[in-house]
Amino acid sequence: MNQNALKSDNYMITLDNVNKWYGQFHVLKNINLHVKQGERIVLCGPSGSGKSTTIRCINHLEEHQQGKIMVDGTELDGDLRNIEKIRAEVGMVFQHFNLFPHLTVLQNCTLAPSWVRHMPKKEAEELAMHYLERVRIAAHAHKFPGQLSGGQQQRVAIARSLCMKPKIMLFDEPTSALDPEMVKEVLDTMLGLAQDGMTMLCVTHEMGFAKTVADRVIFMDQGEIVEQAAPEAFFSNPRSERTRTFLSQIL
Ligand code: ADP
Ligand code: MG
Repeated sequence: MNQNALKSDNYMITLDNVNKWYGQFHVLKNINLHVKQGERIVLCGPSGSGKSTTIRCINHLEEHQQGKIMVDGTELDGDLRNIEKIRAEVGMVFQHFNLFPHLTVLQNCTLAPSWVRHMPKKEAEELAMHYLERVRIAAHAHKFPGQLSGGQQQRVAIARSLCMKPKIMLFDEPTSALDPEMVKEVLDTMLGLAQDGMTMLCVTHEMGFAKTVADRVIFMDQGEIVEQAAPEAFFSNPRSERTRTFLSQIL
C-alpha cells in the first residue's frame, strides 16, 4: 500500500489544497483539513470567512475548482456515483432546520429512508421513532414542524439526518437561529452524538460547546484557515492577531 492510500485511509474527511471561486471571488484559499474518525471539530470565524462554503463542499452542495476532497476514502471528483456515495454517509444540519412543513415530524424522518434507501414503511417508521426518542421528541412525532418550537424543530432535523445512518455529521450554525433558552437542548443533543463517537464538523460560535466537546478548533478568516489547535491552546493562547480580535468580539 502506498503512502497516500495509507494516509487517506486514516481520515474520514480530507481536504488537500482546496480552492474555490464564486466568479472572480476567491472564497476558499488552499484549505487543508484532515478529520479522523470520531474527531469533533469546531469551525469558527467571522461572517463571510468561508465556513459554510467549506462544509458545503464536503457533501458537494458546492463544487470546488482546485484541490482534492476525500470522504471516507472516496474522492469528490465530479463522478456522480461518488457524490451519491458520499452524500449517503454525510448528514447535514442547517441553521434554518429545512424541515418539510407539510409533512409530519415522522414523515420528515421516513422520507429519505423510504425513497432513497427503499426501506419498507414499517421499518422506516421504527427507525425514525428510535432516533426521535434519542433526541427526546418522539411524543411530537405526529405534529407538523410549525407546531414545534425552534429547538424542537432542530432536534427533529438532527433525528432526520440520523435516520440515514451517516458516518459524519456536518452542522452549520445549528443554534444561531434559536432563542437563547433553546440553544442548550440542541447542544446537548450534539453532545450526545459526540459521546457516541460520531465524526462531527460543526460551524458554531458556541464557544462553551467548543471548549467542552471539540478535539480541535479551527479558525477561518477571508477564505483561509488561519489557526487550528486543541481548545485549551486555542482559547488561552491564540497565536494569530486575527484570532485574538475575533475571540475578543465573541467571548
Ligand atoms: P460564512 O459561512 O463563513 O459566513 P460563506 O461560506 O457563507 O461564509 O461565504 C463566504 C463568502 O462567499 C462571503 O463573502 C459570501 O458573500 C460569498 N458567497 C457565499 N455564497 C455565495 C454564492 N453562492 N455566490 C457568490 N458569493 C457567495
Ligand atoms: Mg455560514
